[in-house]
Amino acid sequence: MNYLSTRGDHSPKRFCDILLEGLAPDGGLYLPESYPQVDDATLSRWRTVYHVQGYAELAFEILSLYIDDIPADDLRAICAKTYTAEVFGTGEIVPLRHLDNGIWLEALSNGPTLAFKDMAMQLLGNLFEYELARRGEQLNILGATSGDTGSAAEYAMRGKKGVRVFMTSPAGRMSPFQQAQMFSLMDENIINIAVEGVFDDCQDMVKAVSNDLDFKRRYKIGTVNSINWARLLAQVVYYFAGYFQATETNDQKVSFTVPSGNFGNICAGHVARMMGLPIAKLVAATNENDVLDEFFKTGVYRVRASADTHETSSPSMDISKASNFERFIFDLLGRDGARVKALFGDALARSGQFDLSQHPAFNDIRLRYGFVSGKSTHANRLATIKESFEQHAMVIDPHTADGVKVAREQLQADVPMIVLETALPIKFAETIVEATGREPERPAKFDCIEALPKRVITMAADVAAIKQLIISRCA
Ligand SMILES: *Cc1c(COP(=O)(O)O)cnc(C)c1O
Repeated sequence: MNYLSTRGDHSPKRFCDILLEGLAPDGGLYLPESYPQVDDATLSRWRTVYHVQGYAELAFEILSLYIDDIPADDLRAICAKTYTAEVFGTGEIVPLRHLDNGIWLEALSNGPTLAFKDMAMQLLGNLFEYELARRGEQLNILGATSGDTGSAAEYAMRGKKGVRVFMTSPAGRMSPFQQAQMFSLMDENIINIAVEGVFDDCQDMVKAVSNDLDFKRRYKIGTVNSINWARLLAQVVYYFAGYFQATETNDQKVSFTVPSGNFGNICAGHVARMMGLPIAKLVAATNENDVLDEFFKTGVYRVRASADTHETSSPSMDISKASNFERFIFDLLGRDGARVKALFGDALARSGQFDLSQHPAFNDIRLRYGFVSGKSTHANRLATIKESFEQHAMVIDPHTADGVKVAREQLQADVPMIVLETALPIKFAETIVEATGREPERPAKFDCIEALPKRVITMAADVAAIKQLIISRCA
């Protein structure tokens, strides 16, 4: 399987070439040259694989269609090591729970950091360790986080050979639980940096370091952000696992609602659908930061300025642009790399927006690709959390609540609607208390986490200072 860039560069790359890379050299995102097609017989076989052999083996089946530069036995071992009941809490790994008439929750948040990002990041950690050992190389992952991504990356990379993580976060801005999760890690290869500033300052520092190509090469700087194809691929697996739990035969369809920010999670649903998984609708749920909802309704994609990006009570969806969105547009426009470059490279840089409302492909978004969308606000979120607690004794996190709110609007008779549960409520206790009047349940392994000793380096938003830190740790 070869990979190509959404902006037209077709120089062939294999999976392990792009594993450690971020963007393609032309600024595009990587996609496979085609989506392997899953016929009815294969779907039936995978159904049995999931139910009998388990999630890890299903992951191996799917990944091996996209990865031909890791020997099968090694890939199988990597999947088996990643998706264990010990790490993800249950044998099903992603169990389905019924909420109410036709709506199901797929649990993706029982990994080490209690958000769905663990599903992909845990695999990435093992793939990185494997590939770096094979090449005899080292990697310094430099990142910026406002919460979920940083902790998922750290828990995936802690103790891994060949990898160091330098993670910046805005000082004092993460929830106490999130700070405790990250700063209590004492592994030598995990370096937490609290930056005196806001998230954008952290991101600017990371960009400045990455743009210094000499420094980047010399100190082997890499990233683990959500545009990484391996992360997306890992997420494809749970769409299949959700389908196998919600249906008994392959002639049934299901829909998925996905609480969305950077479009990484739902883009994996798009890939699953392109492979032939019988998905009726892919529903993108946004919060007040409704870039995506606006696009799916009007055809206008309009990036928001920082001042127009709201701080909400579902903070992991507070985005100004959806960094994976380019992948879907590439498919929508018949994989025309030049056109995608004109839209994402030129039009967005010039005016911060583009308009496909008059394009012949506009109707394909819904009719051919199954995408629809909806939006949820703070009031909707609170009402949904309260309702599911009072009616069903189920406490859901604020992001998942945005999903449930929008899922109800898109429900069709006889089509199970699966809402992806993207985090556990304990990560966002303040909003849960506001909605229900009670503290959310805390998994036992996180008892008293806030009281653990913390290790974090505080610094000003200063590029020279972070470079100096990296140099000193690499010596
Ligand atoms: C990252 C995240 C999202 C958004 O996922 P995208 O892949 O960026 O669309 C939603 N909910 C939670 C809890 C998250 O951590």
